[in-house]
Formats: sequence, C-alpha cells, structure tokens
Amino acid sequence: MNSRFLDFRSDTVTKPTAGMLDAMMTAKVGDDVFGEDETVHALETKLASTFNMEAGLFCPSGTMTNQIAIKCFTQPMDEVICDQTAHVYRYEIGGIAYHSAASVRLLHGERGILTTELIEPEINEDNIHYPNSSLVVLENTVNKGGGSCYTLAQIAPIHHLCNIKGLKLHLDGARIFNALVATGDDASEYGKYFDGISVCLSKGLGAPVGSVLLGSKQMIHKARKIRKAFGGGMRQAGFLAAAGIYALDNHVERLKDDHAHAKAIAAALASTAYVKSVMPVETNIVIFEVEKGSAEKIVNQLKEKGLHCNTTSASTVRLVTHLDLTPAMIDQAIEIILHLS
Ligand SMILES: *Cc1c(COP(=O)(O)O)cnc(C)c1O
Repeated sequence: MNSRFLDFRSDTVTKPTAGMLDAMMTAKVGDDVFGEDETVHALETKLASTFNMEAGLFCPSGTMTNQIAIKCFTQPMDEVICDQTAHVYRYEIGGIAYHSAASVRLLHGERGILTTELIEPEINEDNIHYPNSSLVVLENTVNKGGGSCYTLAQIAPIHHLCNIKGLKLHLDGARIFNALVATGDDASEYGKYFDGISVCLSKGLGAPVGSVLLGSKQMIHKARKIRKAFGGGMRQAGFLAAAGIYALDNHVERLKDDHAHAKAIAAALASTAYVKSVMPVETNIVIFEVEKGSAEKIVNQLKEKGLHCNTTSASTVRLVTHLDLTPAMIDQAIEIILHLS
C-alpha cells in the first residue's frame, strides 16, 4: 500500500506504478534542448495527434504550459477572459500579469462553465480606454466547479464567437481526459476548436511530472522559445516523457473507476448530518458544504480517522479520487465518512 493514510487531497499525490517505472528506466533519451530526445518527441507527437493539433511541447508543469500559451496569444495591455474560479487566474501566482503584462476579465459561470452569453458582452470594442480582448481561457474539467465538464456541443459556439471576434481560445485541460471519459466526446474533435491546449500528465493520469502544450506548428515554435526563457528547457527529459506515454496507454480508461469512486463518496457524504449539500459529481472531484461550523473542523475530524482532504473555502471541503485509491480504500473512506461523530 502506497501511503499510511487515505489521501483524498489531490490527484497529484499518486506515485509511479511498477509498469510506469519500468517504462521510465528503459526509455531512449537524448538532449531535448538540442531536439534529440526521441521519447519526448514521441510523447509530443502522440498527444498532438490524439487532439488533432499540429505540434506539442513537453513542459515541467501545467502552470508553465498555461502561462506559455497565454504569452503566445497576448500582447502587453491585452485582456484575457476567463471564469473567476480559473486556475490560470487564481492559482498561477498572478502569472498573467507577471509574464504577459495582460489584464484579466473575470466571468461568473455556473460551476465555472462559460457560455457565449456570458463572454460576448465582456469582449471590449476597439476604444482608446479599453484593453484589447485577445484570449478566452476555458478549463475542462473545472477544478473549483467540482470537476464539472464542458461538452464539445458547449465549446463549439464559444469557438465560433472567438473566431468572429478575432480572439484566440485556449484550453486548460489539466483534467481533459476526465472530461473525455465522462462526456464520451472525441478528443480528435478538440483540434478544430482550440488554438492551444494544455494537458497535465501528473493529475489523474498518474505520471510523476509533466504537461504538454498543443498548438499549431508556428505557435509551438514560439512556445519553445518562451519555455527556454522561462527556464523550462530540459535535457534527458525522455525518462519523464516515458511515464507520460505509459500513462496515456494505461491510465485513461480506468478514470471511469475514479469517477465511480467519487460518486460513491458523494452519496455517503450526502447521507450524513454534517453535510449540507454536495456539488453534483461528474468526474473525480467531490466538493461539499458543511452543515454548520467550519469546514476546517470537519477536515480535522476526518484526518484524525485517517482520511486526508482539504478545505476549498471556510465552509466547503474537496475530496479527489485517483489511481492510488483502491476500491478497498474507498470502502474504508466511506466507513469513516458515515461514522464521523
Ligand atoms: C493542477 C492544475 C494545473 C497545473 O498545475 P501544475 O501543478 O502547475 O502542473 C492547471 N490547471 C488546473 C485546473 C489544475 O488543476
């Protein structure tokens, strides 16, 4: 067993499996800054073709892939449109201002999901007073929305609006495979809608490190230079890319198990007196509101019983299911949830 406690804090806590470690140890590598690492190249090409994009770029983190994309798609004094819960705004340490010198227009989507009705009025006209609206960022799944998903049918009109208005569209796809498994949408359709896509390998897919940015050849050429400027050019990164390839080949279909586990956890929580409401569960994230008192108190009580999770506000708690939580561990967690006094 991987850990001493039941770790529901995040899907980033997974450790490489034996099969993944084996793939890493036997990877063919070279200097990727010289463009000589065939495993990195294979990963970039594999994901680009999955999403029907021209090219890919392997980066150390999803923060870096998102921030590089934003820098590619904006000029200083431009404005980025996103939901107020967006990771690119809340959890990337003000990177949009720091790296791209752009401002941000925050929208209030239902569980973080944006629509053309929300976006269109917030696109600035050409006016001496207004920043130039140049980019819309969507997140799929939405972390703060409790793992809520966009379907392609919801994305298509947003793409159409951006196209007409001359804005780029970027996807923060930290958990895009969770969304694909939940919606049944086809990954290869994504290429026609987005100018940039960031895919995390270190979330539900269970790789130790890495994200891939996808885009046109021209965009990725520019992104590669920005990655170098950010200090993200890596040498024998094929050892890490091999973990990503292994994850894509072995850990995508099983995400449905994480989703079933999250639904079971949510049902248990909903039946208790200390939970006021549970957000609808679509993927591997469960967010609930406490009945009374602070969320922190509940988190501490759960922790004492061996179940670790985190608050997302003074009154809400998040649990995330993942590869390292087995069915037996989910059963244990449900016991703890049902008998917390
Ligand atoms: C985790 C995450 C990222 C990227 O995070 P890194 O830790 O930098 O890899 C981006 N967007 C969302 C929604 C995330 O959950």
